[in-house]
Amino acid sequence: MENKLVIYNTLSRKKELFIPINPPNVGLYVCGPTVYGETHLGHARPAITFDLLFRYLSHLGYKIRYVRNITDVGHLENDADAGEDKIAKKARLEELEPMEIVQYYTNMYHDNMKKLNVLSPSIEPHASAHIMEQQQMVESIFRKGYAYESNGSVYFDVEKYNKTNNYGKLSGRNIEDLLSTTRELEGQEEKKNPFDFALWKKANPEHIMRWPSKWSDGFPGWHLECSVMSTKYLGEEFDIHGGGMDLLFPHHECEIAQTKIANGKESVKYWMHNNMITINGKKMGKSLGNAISLNQFFTGEHKLLEKPYAPLTIRFFILQAHYRSTVDFSNEALQAAEKGLQRLWTAFDSLSKIKAGNQSSVSISKLENKCYEALNDDLNSPVLIAHLFDGVKIINSLLSGKEQINKDDLNKLKSIYKTFVIDVLGFEKSEISQTDNKVYHKVVDLLLDLRMEAKAKKDFQMADNIRNKLLELGFEIKDKKDGYEWELSD
Ligand code: ZN
Repeated sequence: MENKLVIYNTLSRKKELFIPINPPNVGLYVCGPTVYGETHLGHARPAITFDLLFRYLSHLGYKIRYVRNITDVGHLENDADAGEDKIAKKARLEELEPMEIVQYYTNMYHDNMKKLNVLSPSIEPHASAHIMEQQQMVESIFRKGYAYESNGSVYFDVEKYNKTNNYGKLSGRNIEDLLSTTRELEGQEEKKNPFDFALWKKANPEHIMRWPSKWSDGFPGWHLECSVMSTKYLGEEFDIHGGGMDLLFPHHECEIAQTKIANGKESVKYWMHNNMITINGKKMGKSLGNAISLNQFFTGEHKLLEKPYAPLTIRFFILQAHYRSTVDFSNEALQAAEKGLQRLWTAFDSLSKIKAGNQSSVSISKLENKCYEALNDDLNSPVLIAHLFDGVKIINSLLSGKEQINKDDLNKLKSIYKTFVIDVLGFEKSEISQTDNKVYHKVVDLLLDLRMEAKAKKDFQMADNIRNKLLELGFEIKDKKDGYEWELSD
């Protein structure tokens, strides 16, 4: 395979030709969700960005081990927080065991990802299942002299690390800036320097998620889990580490430092970061109160939403922007995405109506090359979509008979749309299309009309028969004064 994929490496700050360490194998690690709340639009962006990468690398013939973690250890807002962790707080408010909270929101995340047609990763490790390995990494950093204990907590010695390494090289910060900008927070007196970060944190009495250790009953620092799980499943050196730009500092910066000390080498070859989704130009976030959950998008139940949006419309909305650009949410943008996706699907469906002739007046190879060039240029999905729209013009002129196409070219055209629209961009239509959906609704209405007729004729056996068969199939039927209402429960 001739490889021309170029990706922007956050570490070198330039586009680099992608050369796997051990081809055709590729190791990909992406920071996954913290599972203590609803899955929102912000979660969709990294998931869809790295799904595109996963799908494209697979299409190019690579064998990928894709690891995306679940953060289910209750972490504090920052090292200085003394209070409750987020998962435990939610558990207390809802009177549940913390692991019930974890399971509930993990299920919701999986359900939402499935609807967005995001493929499952190869491994999805939970932080809480890797406490022993995290303690071992703390131990190893300790032995090498880059950790110190203070009041039962263990911190990473950033100043010592920075003497021989460049702390801040990923995020472009330096230790002097950090010193002048780090706030003095309560609880910081345990640390030698305010920018030191926790490897192990002693738990307060109210902190429920805790494990015994030689230092204290406590829990691992948040950054540690990704160093540990990437090393465990992808080895000491692997190809790509991804995540949202909001994780660049401190999360990924700290990961680099602690992995370097623990393993004695740099582990990541390419760092990739997706940009954020904004709402009217402002950062979207749960703590900012303007986050819209994916379920709200799907049902339309949020004051900022004019109507419900299908999951694949959200997927199209995200992929029509380059992953390193910001995406601004608006109803107009989502409705444009809805139309754009429909246009691709209509063209895709009408490919079967085109008849091949003896010669071609259109250049299909050129279109194919352009599609590959777009993705090879740092996964430029908006440019790819623009080329596919140019292809729609070709398809329409073939349908109207203005242009002709031979058999080979027609097969190639079909294969381009199958490859890019379905396999790589993942715009696979759900089993029920809009038209099928309308017909299906009419059929259920028809059955229930027949049931009403049967009732009117006092044929109660027939009426009950229809009702029971529909109930068996999972329909919920409510009788009303002048008719009925029904829905299919999942
Ligand atoms: Zn991480």
